[in-house]
Parts: sequence; C-alpha cells; structure tokens
Amino acid sequence: MNVLDTLARPVRDLRISVTDRCNFRCSYCMPKSVFGRDYAFLPRAELLTFEEIDRVARAFARAGATKLRLTGGEPLLRRGIEDLVAMLAEIERIDLTLTTNAALLADRAEALKSAGLDRLNVSLDSLNDRTFRSMNDVDFPVDRVLEGIGAATAVGFAPIKINMVVKRGVNDGDVVEMAQRFRGSGHIVRFIEFMDVGTTNGWRLDDVVPAREIVELISAAHPLEPIDPAYRGEVAQRWRYQDGSGEVGVISSVTQPFCGDCTRARVSADGKIFTCLFSATGHDIRSLLREGADDEALDMALTSIWQKRNDQYSELRSAATSSTAKVEMSYIGG
Ligand code: SAM
Ligand code: SF4
Ligand code: SF4
Repeated sequence: MNVLDTLARPVRDLRISVTDRCNFRCSYCMPKSVFGRDYAFLPRAELLTFEEIDRVARAFARAGATKLRLTGGEPLLRRGIEDLVAMLAEIERIDLTLTTNAALLADRAEALKSAGLDRLNVSLDSLNDRTFRSMNDVDFPVDRVLEGIGAATAVGFAPIKINMVVKRGVNDGDVVEMAQRFRGSGHIVRFIEFMDVGTTNGWRLDDVVPAREIVELISAAHPLEPIDPAYRGEVAQRWRYQDGSGEVGVISSVTQPFCGDCTRARVSADGKIFTCLFSATGHDIRSLLREGADDEALDMALTSIWQKRNDQYSELRSAATSSTAKVEMSYIGG
C-alpha cells in the first residue's frame, strides 16, 4: 500500500526516537541552559515499549516505508537496544540504520551488527579535540568517538556516514580536515547546515555555512564533481572526488530546502507521529496502541494522518528564526 500526502509525497523513511535522553549536551541540540539537572525527561512508562515500536514500524512498512532509522536523544542509552534491533531487522524490505554520537559504540558495535543492524550514522562535529569537547559540552574526547568508528568498521559496517553539523565561527575551520580524514576510507562524511530546529538553540541565519560554500572549500583542496541522488527524497546532495577516492554529502536544509521530495515521518520516544521536523505538535499513536487497537485500526490511523500532511516548513521559513512553537530535535531525533 502506498499512501500519499496532499502534495503526492509517499512515506518512505521513518525515524523513531527511542529515548529523549543524551550523554552529550551539544549546544545546537540540547544546550545545558535548558537541558540541565532539573530538566524533566520522559518517565519510563511514557516511552514506547519495544513491542509498541515494532508494531508502529510494521504499520509504517505496510504504508510504504522502506527505511527505518533509530535515533534519539542518544539511542545507545536505551537499555537492550540490541534486542529492539533484532526485532526490527525481521521486518521485510526495511533498511535499518541507527544514528549515534558513538560515545558508547566501541563496546556495542559487534552486538548491533549481529542483531542485524544494516547501517550506522555517526555524528562527529570536529577532529580538533578542544573544539569537539566544547561542542558536546560534556568534555568528551574525540579519540573515543574515533575508537567507536574503528570498532564499527572492524565488525563490517560500511560505509558509515559521518555527520558533521557546521556552525559558522565554531567548526567551519575543520571542514577540510574532516573531509581529508575520511577520504579514501570508504566512509562518507556528510556536512549538515545548522538548522533552526526547536526553540532553544538560539539559531541565527548568520551561523549557517551554506552547503555551496562547504563544497567549494573541500573542492579547492580535492576537486569534487556532483553525482545523481540514489533515490527520490535523498536528503544529501552527493559529490565525489574526481580522483576516485570516495564521496561526501552536503545537507542544505536551510539554503536549498527539499520539502517537495520529503518522504520522512518521525515518531517521538513517547509515541507521537510528527510529519515534519518543524511541527509544533504530533499525533498520539501510543494511546491507540494501549487501548488495544488492532493492525487494521493502526493502518487506518496512519493513513488518515499521512493523507492530511501538507508540511513544507523549510520552503516557507523566513530569514529570521521563526518564533512559533516547534518540537526539540532531541525529542524526535534528527
Ligand atoms: N544523539 C545521536 C547523534 O547525535 O547522532 C542521535 C540524535 S541527534 C538529534 C541526530 C542528528 O541531528 C545528529 O547528527 C545531530 O548533529 C543533528 N542535529 C541536532 N541538532 C541539529 C541542528 N540544530 N541542526 C542540524 N543538525 C542537528
Ligand atoms: Fe545528544 Fe545527538 Fe543532540 Fe548531541 S545531537 S545533544 S549527541 S541527541
Ligand atoms: Fe520535510 Fe518538514 Fe524538513 Fe520540509 S521542513 S524537508 S517537510 S521535515
């Protein structure tokens, strides 16, 4: 079944947040000033159970989703995540990915691989230890992330996508070094424009380094040429090194929005469906599950939500950050 929204976009890519907690406090995502000691994270009973996540994922797969990403918060903080991976890996025709800050990856990579995880995305904002420690704001050393990437490579994850959020005046000087470090490794670095998600990260357009500028920076050192997207709705624009030493991606969600092809749905850790990263409210699916809805009722609810979808925030956003209420990234995942 292929469900289409009001702009004829199918649902292809589902991102499920398995926890709203994190062991980092990246300033652009969970600034300490807001996510401090007293911050009220979701109580355990509010989180979808693994069985509930599995039912939601299967319903989305029936509606046409072919990609499933586990995210957060930090997904490796969710106890027993490997068991969830094993359940979801059983869903037919689903490509299963997990996005992590890799702080806990070195010890977990093997278990995730054997549970059936297809792919890994690792977030890494700088190779400069000082910059990295300050960006994660918990003084976490870059070497431990690199160890995690090494362990994941050793158990056969390839290519790993390494995501770097680029912020003007903070880590834009590290772009070329990051490209160079993974050039020829088989892994793919993706440079992400700093986005105005949520309302707590103090976003300003001046902080955004346009994807075009990032490509020019790298290309000046190692010439790049564009390659076609792998599929409709791919978020990253792909570029390959002319000398054949691999590829990089840029995600230009601010300067060149791609809502027209947006096939993504997100589910928060407490079971709300968000049809856009910038939605203010989600659709509660957990109540339905806990009231004993069967698969048919679940499918109907999903279809009705998706068929009403008309989101295109990035194409409509104004130059200044909007003051409207928006959901936080750590709650619904990137
Ligand atoms: N904790 C995991 C991690 O960092 O990989 C998974 C969740 S995190 C919210 C997912 C992705 O969102 C990360 O790659 C992060 O860099 C990105 N992200 C968070 N806030 C962002 C922002 N304001 N603009 C662009 N990307 C952002
Ligand atoms: Fe945590 Fe990921 Fe957000 Fe950083 S980007 S605070 S690692 S959830
Ligand atoms: Fe999709 Fe919303 Fe982002 Fe547009 S702004 S690409 S609709 S998530």
